[in-house]
Amino acid sequence: EKSLVWFRRDLRDYDHAALYHALKSSKKVYCVFVFDTAILNQLNDKADRRVEFIWESVRELKTSLQKHGSDLIVLHGNAGDEIPKLANTLLVNAVFTNHDYEPSAITRDAHVAEQLNKSSIAFHHYKDHVIFEKDEVLNLSGKPYCVFTPYKNMWLKTVNDFFFKAYPVDNHLNNLAKTNASPFISLEDLGFKHTNLASMRLPTGMQGGLTLFNDFIERMSRYKDARDFPAIKGVSYLSVHLRFGTISIRHLAREAMQSANTGAQTWLSELIWRDFYVQILHHNPSVAAGRAYKVEFESLKFPNDTALFQAWCDGKTGYPLVDAAMRQLNTTGFMHNRLRMVAASFLVKDLLIDWRWGERYFAEKLIDFDLSANNGGWQWAASTGCDAQPWFRIFNPITQSERFDAQGKFIRKYVPELTKCNDKEIHAPWLIPLLRLQELNLSIGKDYAAPVVDHATQRLQALALYKNI
Ligand code: FAD
Repeated sequence: EKSLVWFRRDLRDYDHAALYHALKSSKKVYCVFVFDTAILNQLNDKADRRVEFIWESVRELKTSLQKHGSDLIVLHGNAGDEIPKLANTLLVNAVFTNHDYEPSAITRDAHVAEQLNKSSIAFHHYKDHVIFEKDEVLNLSGKPYCVFTPYKNMWLKTVNDFFFKAYPVDNHLNNLAKTNASPFISLEDLGFKHTNLASMRLPTGMQGGLTLFNDFIERMSRYKDARDFPAIKGVSYLSVHLRFGTISIRHLAREAMQSANTGAQTWLSELIWRDFYVQILHHNPSVAAGRAYKVEFESLKFPNDTALFQAWCDGKTGYPLVDAAMRQLNTTGFMHNRLRMVAASFLVKDLLIDWRWGERYFAEKLIDFDLSANNGGWQWAASTGCDAQPWFRIFNPITQSERFDAQGKFIRKYVPELTKCNDKEIHAPWLIPLLRLQELNLSIGKDYAAPVVDHATQRLQALALYKNI
């Protein structure tokens, strides 16, 4: 028996469902990763941190498999065609992979299964990316949940040690196919450029994921109190590792579950939100095609002013916390969760721009971009989603700033124009009296943008817009 393991959003060689099943059932297991042109060709910016993150992580995986006398075959082409071709060339009996829940991936996998079937090659696929998938957590009437808290309660009721157990790959590693090490493709040959990833404190690959998690374990008990403040190191920064599977969700959930403190329990809740949105996407694939979860909100008529959208993208709205958030996104590919909520709410309910525009912009820029979580987050902010922010609740960007960045530390980092403002002034610099502005040598509208809209006015407009529905 020979088989092929196809790695996708699971770039690790420990606690890996597909690898475990392949190694257990076959004496010769090949491993492959495809830099998929069907995905890469859609990226306009050829300096993409995600591609570099994947490239670094694939390199580490390849080296790790080589240490076992094997290798990772790395291809560059259309995965839907490359996988059946390779499976036929290697004469394997089966291809093993882990589930990907995005509609485009499901279509691709169906095509692969069909091609493999023509050559009588089996296609086995497993849950690996989440603790619970598809229909594993349903309500008492057998229907998917659309509200988080009851979903979470059922999740906690259903879970037991079995679901956290690691797939023990180590015992079977001698079943990896013994092959000569092949050279690794360069980022340039993939048509991409290096980014500022190396300068960021974001270690890549399995080692990087574990390093970040070990650092976070020390802070996990403080998560509940620290998670909302972007200027402090309160969160785990593991989203990109969860996205590309360089860390195992079972490992993280197990550790959080075992810690009885409230910090760990709050963090576990966030991991459950992740499962929640994945199952929402599974049951409502139309959200991936721009549909609102609550269809009645599809008739919302946003004015969509392109100049305001551009100001938001560039971090030049005149609202310091929003601008700092957008500049963090543009320069690092990351944005703190509190700021994602503030920036998203501001785009939709202050600038009155269609949430799909913001969703698309985040999808281009976020290093941890994940369709289910991003769509869930945007529909939450726009009040069109399941269990969303009620439509009449509108974040005030100034009070959010005063509450969550009271000393303006985060703002000062990304909006250096305002460095000299004191802790009170920095949240709404257009309110600073003229004399004081002169003292600060700051000209609003010149050195730093004047507010592009007035929050109080826009709030009323947003309420009127939503009220019509
Ligand atoms: P932590 O606070 O340490 O949380 C741990 C993990 O839980 C995260 O890594 C993530 O996998 C998961 N998680 C946390 N919050 C959420 C959530 N609300 N929904 C789903 N999973 C969650 N998260 C993404 O991974 N990819 C996205 O594209 C994405 N887009 C978002 C867009 C908007 C508008 C909003 C409001 C939120 C979005 N989130 C997204 C959720 C959240 O902001 C990030 O997961 C989080 O900021 C990542 O930082 P962290 O790893 O330090 O999170």
